[in-house]
Amino acid sequence: MYLALYRKYRPKSFDEVIGQEHITSTLINQVKTGQIGHAYLFTGSRGTGKTSCAKIFAKAMNCASTKNGSPCGNCEVCNSLDDPSNIDILEIDAASNNGVNEIRELREKIKYSPINAKYKVYIIDEVHMLTDSAFNALLKTLEEPPKHAVFILATTEVYKLPATILSRCMRFDFRLVETALLEEHLKNIFNKEGIKYDEPSINAIAHAGEGSVRDTLSIADCVIAFSGENVNINKTLEILGSSDKKIVSELALKIIGHDLGGVLEVINDIYSSGKNLTSIGKEITIHFKNLLTIKNCKNYEKLLNVSSETLQELILQSEQVSTENLLIFMQKFSGIEAELKYAISPKTLIEITALECASLDNQKKN
Ligand SMILES: [Zn+2]
Repeated sequence: MYLALYRKYRPKSFDEVIGQEHITSTLINQVKTGQIGHAYLFTGSRGTGKTSCAKIFAKAMNCASTKNGSPCGNCEVCNSLDDPSNIDILEIDAASNNGVNEIRELREKIKYSPINAKYKVYIIDEVHMLTDSAFNALLKTLEEPPKHAVFILATTEVYKLPATILSRCMRFDFRLVETALLEEHLKNIFNKEGIKYDEPSINAIAHAGEGSVRDTLSIADCVIAFSGENVNINKTLEILGSSDKKIVSELALKIIGHDLGGVLEVINDIYSSGKNLTSIGKEITIHFKNLLTIKNCKNYEKLLNVSSETLQELILQSEQVSTENLLIFMQKFSGIEAELKYAISPKTLIEITALECASLDNQKKN
């Protein structure tokens, strides 16, 4: 079975975590000095290493013979914690079930000491998805945790957490990973996997990953699945410039042309073809940013990783819209990105936003 690159290359020690040294150095220090807190909050965009760091940290604080602050991976404790049936490190995914039962169960069992480890660690992923009652239950536990308990809360949307929870946690903000670091990481992995590549395709994949290690490697998986062991820029662009981008470009064209009817038609086409509407907000923001780049940067060809065919299309569009309007479009669509994920009708939200943009007055074209 083919193992996704993201899973295969999930970091097992702090020095394998990419672009988060401001966090890992503090955690390493705490492991070395044994000053472990009761509650941690890991926040930041998806795919930046929150869960990986939580798992490494949970093992490191328990490992009997840590190596420079990271778990050794060989001792009895490390081995027992690797066993999926261990109950000393527990992962709760708040997104999948609002967590009410899990938190209740957690409160009942937390008083029992860990079995093999020193600390009992609870990793709560997407903690912002907990219901109010689950938050209240969690808060009671955070107020008086048993000595052996450590909480690591992870979230992409920290602003949704109650202040009472925030104030009890040591907070760590994970950053988007720089493109240069993603490129380096990709090259290492491609070399290990025996995959041949050219520099432009590495650059294009890393750019498309937009600061997320997970997204970058998922895109790399798609490119490899399509092009085999010889990755080159043409095949990479074919994958990156997939049909979704054509649809996004069409929608942008209708917005720019103030064609309200056209806007509704394109959105309806996207909807009825079963495509994921929630990603459209993000993709069209990128599209408008590309137009903005063409209008305002002399070396736009270097900045945009697109095929020459796409570039011609973008240039044509950029001539029909003002920088001011592009800024407004980007603000409006990036503003609904988070909302789209939980909207009951993403279609309506996209429609309202697109129609608002399409009805903006014509402004000067420069
Ligand atoms: Zn160990």
